[in-house]
Amino acid sequence: MEANGHPSPVKESNGKVALVTGSSRGIGQAIALRLARDGYDVAINDVSFNEAGIHKVVKQVEALGRRSVGIVGDVSDSAQTDAMVAKVVESLGRLDTAVANAGIAEIKPILETTPEDRRKMLSVNAEGLMNTYISSAKQMIKQGDGGRILGAASIVSYNTFPMLGTYSASKWYVKGFTQVAAKEWAKYGIRVCAYAPGIVDTPMWDKIDLALGKEMGLKPGQARAQYVDGLISMKRLSVPEDVAKLVSFMTSDDAEYITGQTIITDGGCSFA
Ligand code: NAD
Repeated sequence: MEANGHPSPVKESNGKVALVTGSSRGIGQAIALRLARDGYDVAINDVSFNEAGIHKVVKQVEALGRRSVGIVGDVSDSAQTDAMVAKVVESLGRLDTAVANAGIAEIKPILETTPEDRRKMLSVNAEGLMNTYISSAKQMIKQGDGGRILGAASIVSYNTFPMLGTYSASKWYVKGFTQVAAKEWAKYGIRVCAYAPGIVDTPMWDKIDLALGKEMGLKPGQARAQYVDGLISMKRLSVPEDVAKLVSFMTSDDAEYITGQTIITDGGCSFA
């Protein structure tokens, strides 16, 4: 059941295969389940720390009548994203849609970040996305009939927040790399876009809320509530299904003339 409105129908198989990175929970899980409802067989990836979550989501996809495979792998290593795509093809036959969703967040004033903090952020959110795009595109080009690649950007890809310096920079990277990949791979029939969520109720925002609250002298939940009240026109926190709905559209044929765009879904918070 989707959190807002009616659940989307479970469609017949479309014969296509999707890979969603970082999909053991949160936004990635919602995207995986929505693509399964849309007719895709779906490969679930996450790091070994979240292996139990991978198995849970694989079972949820299978319960919708779709095939699935769980793949433990770290997107910051290009050998592992190549192996991930090979495993998708070995298990599910091909790759039509890749969603580079995996990401991490860190809340610190820039001057307090260490070189290791900055390296880690870029290795997952920038390099990890680049690795996922490239490994997937190589397979789609080999198949010869196009594909769709999506990446996780953020509202901070447009309007940055203090304390989210390294994160904001990594999400501007997503927007830039997505544009260039779209330009270079259009000739292969591959559309490349990014989705930019606002403030979504996931474990990532639990972490951001605690860190901001500590800095601002607030109790757990209060920083998030202040952001919702002060920033979001529609005055409600986003849920992962809001993002899954946008991804469903962006991967559909209705979006066939859209490529290179980073599209915001945030209840009226940040304006491109
Ligand atoms: P989350 O922390 O709940 O889930 C992210 C998942 O990515 C986790 O399961 C994590 O284990 C996985 N991951 C982290 N590093 C990885 C790696 N190296 N390889 C493979 N998997 C890895 O976060 P979420 O809120 O669901 O966010 C999903 C994406 O959406 C992220 O890219 C995030 O930056 C972006 N986003 C989130 C929000 C929000 O408000 N929650 C807003 C804008 C953008």
